[in-house]
Amino acid sequence: MNISKKAEYTAPSETLSISAKCKELKKQGLDVVNLSVGEPDVDTPQHIKEAAISAINKGFTKYTDASGILELKEAIANKLWEDNGLKYETQQIVVSSGAKHSIYNSLLALCNEQDEVLIPTPYWVSYSEMVKLAGGRPVVLPTNEDTLKLTPQDLERAISDKTKGIILNSPQNPAGIVYCEDELLALASVIKEKGLWVISDEVYERFVYDGRKHISIALFIPDQTIVINGTSKTYSMTGWRIGYTAGDVNVIKAVSRIQSQTTSNPCSISQYAALSAITGPQGCVEEMRLEFDKRRRFIVERLNSISKIACQMPEGAFYAFFSIKALSLNSEEFSNLLLEKANVAVVPGKAFGAEGFIRLSYATSLSNLEKAGDRIEAAIKIL
Ligand code: GLU
Repeated sequence: MNISKKAEYTAPSETLSISAKCKELKKQGLDVVNLSVGEPDVDTPQHIKEAAISAINKGFTKYTDASGILELKEAIANKLWEDNGLKYETQQIVVSSGAKHSIYNSLLALCNEQDEVLIPTPYWVSYSEMVKLAGGRPVVLPTNEDTLKLTPQDLERAISDKTKGIILNSPQNPAGIVYCEDELLALASVIKEKGLWVISDEVYERFVYDGRKHISIALFIPDQTIVINGTSKTYSMTGWRIGYTAGDVNVIKAVSRIQSQTTSNPCSISQYAALSAITGPQGCVEEMRLEFDKRRRFIVERLNSISKIACQMPEGAFYAFFSIKALSLNSEEFSNLLLEKANVAVVPGKAFGAEGFIRLSYATSLSNLEKAGDRIEAAIKIL
C-alpha cells in the first residue's frame, strides 16, 4: 500500500528517536548517558500528582469542552497577565495536548497551501516538519554567526509576497538564546510593518539565567502574535501533554474547531493537574531553575576545557549547543560515534538546521554530566 507524499516526506523527530534508541540500549544493559531528549529529570511535583488523583476520584474522566475546561483557561489568562503582562479573555485561549500540538493546530489554522513560514536557524526539529504537514513552506533563515540571533535585517531580507508568518522561540531550543526587549522590539517593528503573524513559542520561559527576564513579543504586537506555552518543561510534566495557545479570537476559534474534529479535548485528568500546576506553589520551578543553572555552568566550562570544541554560554532553556567545527566529522558522524563508542546520546546540529554543532540537554544529574564530559573528551582524543 502506498503511503501519502506528506507521510513520505515527514522526517521522524530526531530528538525522540535518539532518545528511544538510547532507552533500548539501556535495556540491553549498556550504561548510556542520555543527553538527547529535553526533559527535566525531576519528578512531577507531588501536589500536581495529587490534583490528578483527585480528578480521577471525582470522576473528571469524561469529555470536556474540546478547547479545554474553563477553570484552566481562567488560570492561564491570569498567568499570562501576572507573569507576562498580556491581557486575554478565556475565549482567546485553547488548551491542547502539549505545546507541539498547540503549534501544529495554530499552523493548520493559519497556513494556506504554499504560504511561506519563516524559521530562524537553529530551530527546534519539529517546526519545519509541522509547517510542511500544515501545507505551508518552511523558509529557514540565517542568523548572526556569533550570537545565532535573528536580526531585523535578515528578517526583512527573507520576506517575500508569499510570507505569512514566522515562528519565534525565546528562550530558544537548541542554543539557549534569549531575545531581550530591544531585540524583540526591532523584530516586532518589521513584523508589524509587513503584516505577518508570529507564533511565539515560550515553553522555556521560566528557565532564564543571570538575571535575565523572559519577555513575550506579544507585548509589542498582540494582534499579530499567537502565544504558545505549556506545562511540560516548567512543571516537569512532559508525559501529561498539556500545552496552550493564546491570541486573536478568530484564530483561537479556528484552532478549537480543528481540535474538535481531530483529537477532541486534551486529557481531562491532565487538565486538572495543569490547573494545580499553574495556580499552585511555584517554589518547585525556582528550585529546578537554580539546579539547572548550576548544571549549565558546570557543563559549559567542562566542554570548553576539551580541545577542539567550543560552547557559548546559553542564556536560557536547558541545552548546551557546542561547535565541533574544528573536528573532521560532521554532526551526525560525531553523534553516532559518541553513542556507539562512548555511550553518550546527543542530538546532531543538522537536525536543528545547524551543521557543525551538537546539542546536549543538561536537565540531568551533575554526575551524569561529569561522566558525559569525561567520555566526550576521551572520544575526541582518539579521533
Ligand atoms: N522539545 C524537547 C526536545 O527538543 C522534547 C522532545 C521533542 O518533542 O522534540 O528535546
